[in-house]
Amino acid sequence: MDFKNFIAGAWVEPSTGAYFENRNPADGNDLIGRFPSSGPEDVSRAAASAQRGFALWSRTPAPVRGQVLQRAGDLLVRRKEELARAMTREMGKVLLETRGDVQEGIDTAYYAHTEGRRLFGRTVPSELRSKWAMSYRRPIGVAGIITPFNFPLAVPTWKLFPALLCGNAVIWKPSEDVPHTAHLLVELLLEAGLPPEVFQLVHGLGAEAGKALVEHRDVTVISFTGSTDTGAEIGATCGKLHKRLSLEMGGKNATIVMDDADLDLALEGVLWGAFGTTGQRCTATSRLILHEKIHDRFLKTLVDRAERLHLGPGLEEKTEVGPLIHEEARRKVESYVEIGKQEGASVLTGGRRPGSKGLDCGWFYEPTVLAGVRPGMRVEQEEIFGPVLSVIRVGSLAEAIRVNNDVKYGLSSALYTRDVNAAFTAMTELDTGISYINAPTIGAEAHLPFGGVKQTGNGHREGGWEVYDFYSETKVVYVDFSGKLQRAQIDTER
Ligand code: NAD
Repeated sequence: MDFKNFIAGAWVEPSTGAYFENRNPADGNDLIGRFPSSGPEDVSRAAASAQRGFALWSRTPAPVRGQVLQRAGDLLVRRKEELARAMTREMGKVLLETRGDVQEGIDTAYYAHTEGRRLFGRTVPSELRSKWAMSYRRPIGVAGIITPFNFPLAVPTWKLFPALLCGNAVIWKPSEDVPHTAHLLVELLLEAGLPPEVFQLVHGLGAEAGKALVEHRDVTVISFTGSTDTGAEIGATCGKLHKRLSLEMGGKNATIVMDDADLDLALEGVLWGAFGTTGQRCTATSRLILHEKIHDRFLKTLVDRAERLHLGPGLEEKTEVGPLIHEEARRKVESYVEIGKQEGASVLTGGRRPGSKGLDCGWFYEPTVLAGVRPGMRVEQEEIFGPVLSVIRVGSLAEAIRVNNDVKYGLSSALYTRDVNAAFTAMTELDTGISYINAPTIGAEAHLPFGGVKQTGNGHREGGWEVYDFYSETKVVYVDFSGKLQRAQIDTER
């Protein structure tokens, strides 16, 4: 089946006439559909329509905009299972996780709904008599939203819902690896009552449709989640064009396990953090920093459990680890395992494609543990984005924190300990946007800000209240009802 873009209130074919294929990563023979390979002309049409949508939507009261998102939340609740299954089919991660992905969209919708009745500005005293001073939030314009493959629904809703609630029109360029979930979400938003021209869906490749969106002069806000290299390119363009830009990019997250930790708890957290979503989370645990006193013991149980994780298609309930997103991702993982070996790491388990029949049509790779990794090795520094865990031995908490911080990324970190002083030291010193104590590096909640420091981000946050700040412009208004000219700083009584 050929899918379409949604532009100017209608489902339309791409101006290019070109399409790309979307296949199930667990079974390359399963074609989900062909999606538009859009170009600059499609983006221009979408931008013109979005400007008309903006004129209407920006004047709609925020609580009314919130009601649309409440209805979207209700529809997501009703369709949770159907969406989760469609998402697993095109993205590969297990059903348990795609259900969680939809749930995050539901939480984000309901949070956005209630924010429609807040969107607080400030009213403060003026320094002059008979004068009021206040600030309020205004919509900005047309927001270009560019999203990655690994959270096909949750990450887009983190951006789309606050952007819409704040009164902006939106053009969404979803990942070319998960366009079907995007199609289903747009259908749902229209059913929830979103006025058609407020929302445009433009499918396509990053270097074509994505690039055209970033470069379009009438798209004044860009929000991007994806790799650090792509983010750097987008940042350079937005800098030149003076666009408001939010970047959420890569990670190289570590879990530290101290010698006084509850090791059973830590083991569960490391397995979930490292191999959940087949390691394809920005917050995935890709480094394990073990205190030397428990290093050997912990590794032994970890390897034993990793070997028993059930690899298979995500739609099968017994599956714990699904496939990678595509063959290119698998080749990248393979090349990093080779690099690790050349650097002197040893592969304790995994390090290969599964031999079992039935998995040869998908992009599967065994959960892999690399031991003997030293700080500075490429497998310790670079984002692999697959089921590969690099293990580093340390002698103290101070050394563990140093190792954690000595990477270019700074998204998430975790510490397992029973020592309250160690916990608070780590909370203070770990150089990441998010830290977990006695919990894995993954597990964001929709009402808290999400994002990273250093080359993971550019200072903005998704989620929580902070994201509403990004999608709105603060305007200040002074009302002088004294009936005479009062000059600030000059006529102020001293
Ligand atoms: P990616 O950078 O390849 O693609 C992300 C999106 O950008 C896609 O929609 C793609 O089409 C588009 N794109 C690519 N080149 C472009 C260009 N030149 N101009 C405009 N758009 C372009 O990333 P991916 O492989 O889809 O996702 C994995 C990456 O995303 C990892 O690095 C991961 O850490 C990161 N990620 C970060 C977060 C976070 O919140 N920090 C969350 C999820 C994923």
